[in-house]
Amino acid sequence: MAVALGDCRHQNLGESHRSGSRQMRSPREGNLRCSVRGELGDENFGNAETKSTKMSQTEVSKMKQKQQPVPLGTLIGRELRNEKLEKPTVKYGQAALAKKGEDYFLIKPDCQRIPGNPSTSFSVFAIFDGHNGISAAIFAKENLLNNVLSAIPQTLGREEWLQALPRALVAGFVKTDIEFQQRGETSGTTVTFVVIDGWTVTVASVGDSRCILDTQGGVVSLLTVDHRLEENVEERERVTASGGEVGRLNVFGGSEVGPLRCWPGGLCLSRSIGDTDVGEFIVPIPHVKQVKLSNAGGRLIIASDGIWDALSSDVAAQSCRGLPAELAAKLVVKEALRSRGLKDDTTCLVVDIIPYDHPILPPTPKKKQNLLSSLIFGKRYQNANGANRLSAVGVVEELFEEGSAMLAERLGKDFPLDSNSGLFRCAICQVDQPPSDGLSVNSGPFFSPSSKPWEGPFLCATCRRKKDAMEGKKPSRPTVTA
Ligand SMILES: [Zn+2]
Repeated sequence: MAVALGDCRHQNLGESHRSGSRQMRSPREGNLRCSVRGELGDENFGNAETKSTKMSQTEVSKMKQKQQPVPLGTLIGRELRNEKLEKPTVKYGQAALAKKGEDYFLIKPDCQRIPGNPSTSFSVFAIFDGHNGISAAIFAKENLLNNVLSAIPQTLGREEWLQALPRALVAGFVKTDIEFQQRGETSGTTVTFVVIDGWTVTVASVGDSRCILDTQGGVVSLLTVDHRLEENVEERERVTASGGEVGRLNVFGGSEVGPLRCWPGGLCLSRSIGDTDVGEFIVPIPHVKQVKLSNAGGRLIIASDGIWDALSSDVAAQSCRGLPAELAAKLVVKEALRSRGLKDDTTCLVVDIIPYDHPILPPTPKKKQNLLSSLIFGKRYQNANGANRLSAVGVVEELFEEGSAMLAERLGKDFPLDSNSGLFRCAICQVDQPPSDGLSVNSGPFFSPSSKPWEGPFLCATCRRKKDAMEGKKPSRPTVTA
């Protein structure tokens, strides 16, 4: 390791990995640009000005005072009209402060499953925290959504579409990674990608940009997993089993410094998009979690590690409760800055999934309101079909969670054959190919050199090579060996 990084005596080597660049092999990263981006009006930084995070306590308390509790009669009326069937309102805000300028985000509140049909609308919010350059973050921002959507058959109804989404996210992430790597550029990016359709929230992530959910009961939960070698034993074992080496930087006369990294490459993340020049065990296969909110709604806070290195999930949620999303995002960034200073790019999206026509999420309910609401909702569900209390106030129903890095466990076993053309469609890149050119569910050791035959769907030759490389079976491209 010292060999690979002999000349990389980085100024913040002694600091935690949370503070500096993720990949320490590039000497040019030694000169961090420390200016705060602000007045440029850069699309990717939106309202990232320092001044926008300044807010007097008076303003904050004024905003809090504005919320009036909804009268009980109104609540009951709404329940009787069964408005849960209707889609919630989605409101959002964004704030950021740049140090290196490698954070990007995507806000698309107006996507449609069936183009031209507003009743099929859904929203997408994402954060891309780049490292070793910005090209992977920009490429993912521009291509990932299309790659995910193209992996879902267009004929599906809403429920089927939501069920197909986790698999499509895996395909879209891997396809985007393959396409970026074919460009021969070396930067990489984390991705936290959130799809909101009605009350259903689906989050796919690689890297360490988190998404948390704050529900009306005041319960804060994490919808992502940190793919950091330092903190993720499972990922360390996977990387080692796939032929990577995990260790710390070894400099200054043999002392080990900084977080755990994997070699070749020196990245402290175990999953990302891009990173063409690190080991292929750094995979783009996302952790995916899908939940259904109760009709009380909830708030998502999606942010790069500049926030999470400074604030716990609970502190971030508490710092902005009861405030509208736009203001909330600015407060979270301000709070992170206050506690830690500007050590890294810091980007925050706040997304409120709001019942009915509430202007903003109400603050954490008082006990009395909680009790009353539970009674109302409890009764309704008992009347419906027995006692399904999962959807009671503040309770989130978990629909799906999977984080395996093995494609066989993520892509299902569907095997779509176009009977007209006699072609199979690759489950990752969606390219049609004759069966002989790919890897199929029926193919045994002849197609798969592993001892365990592939049990997933059809993959084209390119995607099959990618799969084998990610599992450490053989490289899909020349690898730089340290
Ligand atoms: Zn393919």
